[in-house]
Order: sequence, then C-alpha cells, then structure tokens
Amino acid sequence: MKFVIIGGGPAGIQAATHGARLGAQVTVIERDIIGGAANLWDCIPSKAMIATGDVVSMARRAEKMGLSPLQPALDLGAMSARVQSITHRLAESTMSLLESQGVTVINGTGWLLSSHEVIATIGGGEELQLDADAILLSTGSRPRVPDWAEADGDRVLTTRQAYPPPVIPEHLVVVGSGVTGVEFVHMFRSFGSKVSLIVSRQQVLPAKDPEVAAALESDFLQSGVRLFKGARAIGLSRGDDGGVSVLCDDQRVVSGSHVLFAIGSIPNSDGLGLDKAGVFVDGGGYIPVDHHCVSNLRHIYAAGDISGKLPLASVASMQGRKIAEHVMGLDSRSHRHLDYEKAASAIFTEPEIADVGLAEAEAFAGGRKIRVTKVPFAANARALIDGDPRGFVKIVSDPATGVVLGGSIVGRNAAELISVIAVAVTAHLRVDDIVESLLVHPALAEALADAAE
Ligand SMILES: Cc1cc2nc3c(=O)[nH]c(=O)nc-3n(C[C@H](O)[C@H](O)[C@H](O)COP(=O)(O)OP(=O)(O)OC[C@H]3O[C@@H](n4cnc5c(N)ncnc54)[C@H](O)[C@@H]3O)c2cc1C
Repeated sequence: MKFVIIGGGPAGIQAATHGARLGAQVTVIERDIIGGAANLWDCIPSKAMIATGDVVSMARRAEKMGLSPLQPALDLGAMSARVQSITHRLAESTMSLLESQGVTVINGTGWLLSSHEVIATIGGGEELQLDADAILLSTGSRPRVPDWAEADGDRVLTTRQAYPPPVIPEHLVVVGSGVTGVEFVHMFRSFGSKVSLIVSRQQVLPAKDPEVAAALESDFLQSGVRLFKGARAIGLSRGDDGGVSVLCDDQRVVSGSHVLFAIGSIPNSDGLGLDKAGVFVDGGGYIPVDHHCVSNLRHIYAAGDISGKLPLASVASMQGRKIAEHVMGLDSRSHRHLDYEKAASAIFTEPEIADVGLAEAEAFAGGRKIRVTKVPFAANARALIDGDPRGFVKIVSDPATGVVLGGSIVGRNAAELISVIAVAVTAHLRVDDIVESLLVHPALAEALADAAE
C-alpha cells in the first residue's frame, strides 16, 4: 500500500507512524518543519509563552505563600530562545520517530497531478512524482485577517506574529473572544500589558457553557482587562504615534498600541491541485469528509483543520490514526469510529478551563434530562495548599443509569484533570466508578470524586 501524505502536522504525523506500523509504505511531504503549524506556530509556542506568564503570576502570589515579594522581569530574547528550543526539540524527536518507522520524509511542497499521482516540488523547483494508492491531505490552516486590515507584524498582528512579538505591547487590543483570543488576553496580561478584548457576542467563549465563560470573564475584569461586548470590529486606523484604533459596528472605537486578530483560520486547500484530481472543496475551502475522513474520492482522505471538523491538534491526530487503520483495511473489531462529541478540549487561561462531552446548557437546550453535580475547589485541600482555590468541577450524568455524559472544570490543572472525565465518557463509566476510585490525598482530583457523588 503506497500511502502519500501532504502536510506533516499532527494529522499527517499520526497517520504516517500508525500507517507504517500497520505495514503501509508511507511518504510524508512537508514544506516547513515536521510537526506542523501545531508545533511551529500554534499549540506549542502559545503554551510555552503562557507557561512563562504563569511563573510571573505565581511570583505575584509569593506573599500569599509566605515568601517576600518577588518581581520577575520578562526577558523577551530569552523567552523567544526557549520557545524555539522546544519546537526544535519536538521536531527532532518526531523526525527520529518517522525515520525509525521507515517513513520517507520529503522536504517540499506537495500537490496533486491526478487522483493517483502526487508531485513534491523541492528546492530549486525540482519535481518528484509519486504514485499513490491512498492520499491524505493534511495541510492545516492559517490565521484569518479581515479584508479591511493588513497584518504588518509590527503593530497589527496575527497569532503567528506574536511568538514573541517585537515588543511587549503597552496596550493590546485583541479582536476575537474564542479560545485563541482569550488565551492571548491571558498571556499578555500576565506579561504586564494593558488588554482590551472585543467580544462580538454578549459572552466571551460563545460556544462554551455560560457558567464557565462567566468565571473567566470575572477573572478578566478583576485583573483589569476591558471587555467590549456586543461589538463587531469593522475597521482599523493608525495614529500619528503608531498606535492603532479599531472601529466597531456600534461606533465604539477601541484604541491601543497594538492589535491582534484571533478570528479563526483559513484552510490551506489552495494550490493543492484538487480540481485536477477531482476532489470536492466547499465554499469555505474545506474538504468535506465522511466518518472515515474520506473525501468524495474513495482513496483520498482529508484530516485536521482542512477537514472542517473540530480544529484541534488532538482531533487531527486521532483522525490521522483512524485514517491509517481505514487505509490498511482494519475490520470493525479493531477499528472504532471517531466520535467528535467526545473530544476533550482546554483553554489555557487563568483559571484554566477544560470540558468534554455533553454540556449542561446544551442538554437544557435539547430538553434532555440530566443530573448535574458541581463542587467548588474552595472546598479542596490541595487547592487551598496551592493558594489558588478558584473554580469548580461540574459533572453531567444520566439520571437513570449514572453514566457520565460530560463535564467542565474551571481551575488549576483543569486540562490535566479533564482526562478522568474524558476516559469516563469514552468508556461509558458511571459516576460511581469515579466515586469509588481510590484517589490520592491531598489532590485536586479529589474534587472530581466529590462532584461525581
Ligand atoms: C494560537 C493557536 C493555539 C492553538 N493551541 C491548541 C492547543 O493548545 N491544543 C490543540 O489541540 N489545538 C490547538 N490549536 C489548533 C491546532 O493548532 C490545529 O488544530 C492543528 O495544528 C491542526 O493540525 P493539522 O494536522 O491540520 O495541520 P497543521 O498543524 O496546520 O500542519 C499542517 C502542515 O502542512 C504543511 N503544508 C501545508 N501545505 C503544504 C503543501 N502543499 N505541501 C507540503 N506541506 C504543506 C504546513 O507547513 C504544516 O506543517 C491552536 C491553534 C492556534 C491558532
């Protein structure tokens, strides 16, 4: 089985390693560095910078923990070097893994000559032609910028120009209050920037449980973040001092030293020769796929951001894994479908936020009977010991069977703790299975058992 993959992000890498393990002859074409935008621009650099900011926040709590005041100063150059060393280390270890599995990696730009022929354009314009029995398109996406603005990388930034920015903005205006927008608000407020957030709806994180969003909004407001709710950004102007002003559709003007757009992404489907191969693309540039991630052509798959499903690295990886199994014809006993409803996700703010499965508001809107139990971290010994008892754990279960349907966590280490609820949701565990697990004491995870009670 000749399996050619265009794009070496989480989807491409997982499909390649799992496909090779199952016996496919795999080639990955990647034009940049292995690991994808997830490693180079998105997940890893943003979390690395947030981790630096978290140290600053922790230092601010020094006095509460019985220490004399600490005032760490940010070193932009050192932080940038740290971010780069992490991405390079991850790229190197992924490359070694691919090599050890016998995957061929071509550094070049891939595109389709026909439905079974892939071209890799490498340095100097040389073209390599590859025949393929199965093809995966996993070329990811890039940040969207409104057509009335131009990201110059100086005062007007996309997320990719903020790792790190040329200077720490004195006053950053963030446009977009989804997951990416709020993470950048959190990151820059911890670096000492004044931050204003333009929120087009009445709630930050419009897709999330209102109670979860309210917890974050309250923390933002307490730390001095200014929220401009119900305001859609429609224009941008530059002042004589180089500052920026964002005009909103309700005539409010939000001015700052820099602006950052976090308004979603555009799929990288242009230039892939999809028309030559006969692959269908929708109006937004996404490649529609079925539950096996198969496009309109049986042997051409799409995964990751280009597939228009949940834009998460974790989802992209799992799609890649499932595709490798489908390519290699694994039967239904060893190949389970991917259920996007059960994907856990996290928002790396302070407090951290994570959720999985059915949300309370979603069940309520659908008229579904559920049991909701909630406990605050204020009653948890570990949270008090750590000096940060903010937030809560909420578990949603079926009142008749006790099966765990979902949950949300707001608080320290929420991204780690949600794994317990994610496993429970995937494995159809009951609340009693969590209650009766012998957990560590004192630990934040004890709040999960309390919430399941
Ligand atoms: C700021 C930010 C933070 C994020 N943080 C998280 C997070 O914490 N957790 C999470 O789960 N998700 C996060 N995401 C989402 C996550 O980054 C994406 O969902 C994920 O990267 C998608 O993976 P992918 O495999 O589709 O492709 P990508 O990671 O986008 O990689 C695609 C690869 O394809 C290559 N490529 C493109 N075209 C070609 C071509 N023609 N030929 C050869 N190579 C090509 C690119 O160079 C790239 O390396 C974040 C996104 C953003 C914007």
